[in-house]
Amino acid sequence: MDFRVPEELAALRESFATFLARRVRPIEETLADELESAETEGGAVSDAAREVVRRSAKEGFYSAHMPESVGGWGVSTLGTTLLVEDAARSGLRLGMFAIAPPNPSGPTPLLLELPEHLWDIYVRPVVRGEKTMCFALTEPEAGSDAQAIRTKARPDGDGWVLDGHKHYITNAEQADLAVVFAVTDPEKRAAGGITAFLVPRGQYHVGKKQHTIADSHPSEIFLDGARVEGDHVLGEVGKGFLSAMRFLNAGRAYIGAQCLGLAEYCLDQAVAHAQARTAFGKPLAKFQGVSFPLADCKAEIEAMRWLTYHLAWAVDQGEQPILDSSIVKYYDTERAYAIADRCLQVFGGMGLLREGPIERVLRHLRVLRIVEGASEIQKLVISRSLGL
Ligand SMILES: Cc1cc2nc3c(=O)[nH]c(=O)nc-3n(C[C@H](O)[C@H](O)[C@H](O)COP(=O)(O)OP(=O)(O)OC[C@H]3O[C@@H](n4cnc5c(N)ncnc54)[C@H](O)[C@@H]3O)c2cc1C
Repeated sequence: MDFRVPEELAALRESFATFLARRVRPIEETLADELESAETEGGAVSDAAREVVRRSAKEGFYSAHMPESVGGWGVSTLGTTLLVEDAARSGLRLGMFAIAPPNPSGPTPLLLELPEHLWDIYVRPVVRGEKTMCFALTEPEAGSDAQAIRTKARPDGDGWVLDGHKHYITNAEQADLAVVFAVTDPEKRAAGGITAFLVPRGQYHVGKKQHTIADSHPSEIFLDGARVEGDHVLGEVGKGFLSAMRFLNAGRAYIGAQCLGLAEYCLDQAVAHAQARTAFGKPLAKFQGVSFPLADCKAEIEAMRWLTYHLAWAVDQGEQPILDSSIVKYYDTERAYAIADRCLQVFGGMGLLREGPIERVLRHLRVLRIVEGASEIQKLVISRSLGL
């Protein structure tokens, strides 16, 4: 086994760090006040996020994970994992927009399941950061049990007509296109009866925004007779559920990497604060009640790191590591949240303030314990591997 980060990926990380420092940090510093009070959607912050996407796409980082055939760099899953980790560890709120994964608004290899003659219209503009998308699987009656979706698609001439209601869809308000999952054979459902469709914005309408505890808010989507051509099916008719699971599994190294980077950021902040702040005549760091929880954080971060890198490596070997994906999604989201909470405690009252460095991260991590397969669903997969 070789645990070293390959040299070319170390060089890629360095150039990404330079990009973050030179092209993202200055925007973040100019907008410090707005970023503290505002959410990522709407107004100056959202304009700044779009500018970061534009700059990063131009330099190539945003879509580095996409193949060269559509304008990406074909960077491996491990390489992308390292970039996602570094963006999160930078603590830059806008840093999360500099690389598309794990955000569902950016390009995903799932789009490559469209026929090639549609790539110029739908895939390359998303790779260039000119358009964004959303991933519409969840419905009011089907969340964890995703194969219970009710949205239906029926054949209509050369195309399909879709009817249904999706909710909790990230980036639905801004997206130019949606990947929508619909039932095409109610008898078969997950076993060959769900299909993925590319639905352009004009064919569906966006309902109410659903405000969460974090800074970005999903929305409802309504499909009332949405019509798409036959070539707007992603992959094969009936194979959409497999595509959805493949998309979610492949994304888990990136969610893990974001958790890893955010946990490292929280620990960096807490260590610096524990050394600088004094109480009872000495730095907080000199109290074991402060230093031992931080030592726990460090040990857990190293466990997260190697689980996550290993998953990325396995994906790069062409494996479909479903169990490892579930372990990473479960362990990294739960540990990162616990680490952020411990680190916040070190800041005392300041930890609870919007202007404190960790409050926002804690809210974001709380969301990650539920989205894209809640922790309990990952534990179902893990317990099944034990024959339970
Ligand atoms: C901010 C946000 C963004 C999102 N973005 C998207 C998106 O872009 N696209 C998309 O398609 N979806 C998205 N989702 C949906 C998300 O993936 C679901 O919320 C999630 O899968 C859980 O589904 P649910 O909310 O319906 O909860 P439910 O399925 O109702 O589950 C409720 C609770 O019961 C537990 N539970 C359910 N079944 C079991 C079981 N068998 N054993 C033990 N426990 C169980 C769950 O773990 C959970 O704790 C988003 C959600 C949020 C909140």
